[in-house]
Amino acid sequence: MAMASAASPYNGLARPAKPNAETIIGSISNCSSSVIFSLSQLPTSPSSSHSLSSSLYCGLKLIGRCIPVQYESSSSQRRTWAVEKPTQGMLGRRYVARAAVGAEELQATSVSLKGVENLVIIGSGPAGYTAAIYAARANLKPIIFEGYQAGGVAGGQLMTTTEVENFPGFPDGITGPDLMDRMRRQAERWGAELFQEDVEHVDLKNRPFTIRSSDREVKCHSLIVATGATARRLGFPREKEFWSRGISACAICDGASPLFKGQELAVVGGGDTATEEAIYLTKYARHVHLLVRKDRLRASKAMQDRILNNPSVTVHFCTGVIDVVSNDKGQMSGVLLEDLNTGKQWILDVRGLFYGIGHMPNSQILEGQVELDSAGYVVVKNSGANTSVEGVFAAGDLQDPEWRQAVTAAGSGCMAALSAERYLVKNNLLIEFHQPKTQETKEDLTEKDVQMGFDISRGKHKGQYALRKLYHESPRLICVLYTSPTCGPCRTLKPILNKVIDEFDNEVHCVEIDIEEDPEIAEAAGIMGTPCIQFFKNKEKLKQIPGVKMKREYQEFIAANK
Ligand SMILES: Cc1cc2nc3c(=O)[nH]c(=O)nc-3n(C[C@H](O)[C@H](O)[C@H](O)COP(=O)(O)OP(=O)(O)OC[C@H]3O[C@@H](n4cnc5c(N)ncnc54)[C@H](O)[C@@H]3O)c2cc1C
Repeated sequence: MAMASAASPYNGLARPAKPNAETIIGSISNCSSSVIFSLSQLPTSPSSSHSLSSSLYCGLKLIGRCIPVQYESSSSQRRTWAVEKPTQGMLGRRYVARAAVGAEELQATSVSLKGVENLVIIGSGPAGYTAAIYAARANLKPIIFEGYQAGGVAGGQLMTTTEVENFPGFPDGITGPDLMDRMRRQAERWGAELFQEDVEHVDLKNRPFTIRSSDREVKCHSLIVATGATARRLGFPREKEFWSRGISACAICDGASPLFKGQELAVVGGGDTATEEAIYLTKYARHVHLLVRKDRLRASKAMQDRILNNPSVTVHFCTGVIDVVSNDKGQMSGVLLEDLNTGKQWILDVRGLFYGIGHMPNSQILEGQVELDSAGYVVVKNSGANTSVEGVFAAGDLQDPEWRQAVTAAGSGCMAALSAERYLVKNNLLIEFHQPKTQETKEDLTEKDVQMGFDISRGKHKGQYALRKLYHESPRLICVLYTSPTCGPCRTLKPILNKVIDEFDNEVHCVEIDIEEDPEIAEAAGIMGTPCIQFFKNKEKLKQIPGVKMKREYQEFIAANK
């Protein structure tokens, strides 16, 4: 059995109590689920004289249930033991957990056993979800704080883009929100517990660690931080007024919008991001101006060649942005610039200003607790996931000023989860949880449902197939959210609505209809703009709510009509 070494992170601190036999028996006596413990919690065989094992065994015999208990050794070699009759024949036999428990029972079991979670993950971009998939798959039952507002929306940066064409496995591309939705579902499927809340404070100086969100406080033995990065802003006087109304930090997301198509546009910045964005925008804009503070570009030589030889781009060196200007209709009509050599100010007539001035890692909650570099990125050891605090791991853009891609973020999320698992095993902290099988819902599904990825037991759905099925078959209140890929307010509304739907789990179905993918549905529903919500129950339309409203308005309507 692995013992805490002298270098244990618990050195000098109170070690968390392992569950004793009474707690374990008390927790499982009311359920028939299998409960899995690591070798660190129990000895290797039922014949051992270890008191915890003996009393657990006797206690289980008294309960009179056959509950399989599986041991996990630190070398990952699995040994299993059916508690009721630990005969020679059963020793070593692989006893697959056939859990007949409902979700509530399983939760009751895990809650009373956990007190301290194995692993908390902060962030729901590709790094956070990938870490969640790996950790949940390894039966760690991780808790994920997906975020709400701090550091971007739940789902991360890809929620703000349309096509992702370089993520492996999608030869025809996939939209950012679809990709993130798939990752989320995969994490959920393997038992990750998701909370769409911002983490406001972490205490990594005392063990177990404490993670406090807007709604709850969680103790955990290990932590993966994958809070990503946020685009920098310039902070000039009218920036807020024109944010998303002419100013954008994302050419790929907003470049194709009607607001910018065929117009003169400006991009600010002199590095690879700005030059790439400027070239990207030439697909839609009449002309693109690149505004560079210095007298040279920082971008790679290849990008410099591309931009300087592109007739659709004019580069303005030694140029600072002072503010934006508007016309008498209140629309953005230009940018007030300053020649940094002469101090002369002038107005460039453009209808859009795009930022390519880099990102800030979302590491504020770690300040003073984990080593950060001068730009605020988390320092990881040997290009892995380990941070300066044992048991705390970092993944994704938060620790990567260089590559900043979805696939690299996902890869580092995987490394972080595997590192966390190793850490828990090494320090005898791991408690495994196994998922109950959900055969009952799968049996109700038709072949076509499976093919279309439809599962009526879920609260959130997408597309016209799901809508038709729910409209005809669901007794629940149905909330239909109409969106379009280029609609900014849709992205604001989605996390708000998601949170409300989560509150009414099992009482309401929510279906998202992308009006570009399902135009005939939108037409039949009389949708004139997005976002727009319609509520239905028993095939009757109850209400239509266009635009983005306060969360309370949706909550109150659902509560009154569920
Ligand atoms: C417009 C755009 C287009 C892109 N296109 C591509 C592309 O085509 N291909 C590609 O490979 N890459 C692309 N990228 C880059 C890619 O999106 C990022 O590299 C990747 O999303 C980083 O993943 P991440 O998990 O590290 O962080 P993020 O995606 O930034 O996710 C961070 C998460 O942390 C959460 N969070 C932050 N603070 C807190 C907190 N305090 N509490 C709880 N949660 C918190 C946020 O809500 C968010 O969910 C694009 C980026 C942008 C902006």
